[in-house]
Amino acid sequence: MKKNVLENNSEIIEIYDKLDLELSKINPGCNACGRCCHFNTYGHVLYTSNIEVNYILENVTAPPHDPNQNICPFLKDNVCTIRDFRMLGCRVFYCNPHYRIITKEVYIHSKYYNMMKEVARKNQIEWHYAPMMKLL
Ligand code: SF4
Ligand code: SF4
Repeated sequence: MKKNVLENNSEIIEIYDKLDLELSKINPGCNACGRCCHFNTYGHVLYTSNIEVNYILENVTAPPHDPNQNICPFLKDNVCTIRDFRMLGCRVFYCNPHYRIITKEVYIHSKYYNMMKEVARKNQIEWHYAPMMKLL
């Protein structure tokens, strides 16, 4: 029977470290204005996996939030309060249209999403991929 949580998050951390290294070479730029974390205003749905949400919730408590508002509850004063734990979808999103395409390729068609899925498969964890506000 499949489990719900990983016993060890080191494989998730390794994936994030690899991605951050790759993105640092592309250097898409972000002034951390927090606009894209207001999902409705930005017209954006942040998808993620259950294992990434579990990793966040093992490290921080989600603030009370109204899912209908569709603003990331981890955004405070337009700053991400969980930067070290944020999910793949946050790490690869850049509003710059040029880099948006590149980072989408890196994320969707390249290895990182599949790596995360493989962590779930290998560790016999259930895999769900859905809007973050539904998984919280
Ligand atoms: S990606 Fe763009 S909208 Fe989002 S925080 Fe960075 S600069 Fe702001
Ligand atoms: S986790 Fe951080 S970067 Fe991701 S949507 Fe929330 S506030 Fe923005």
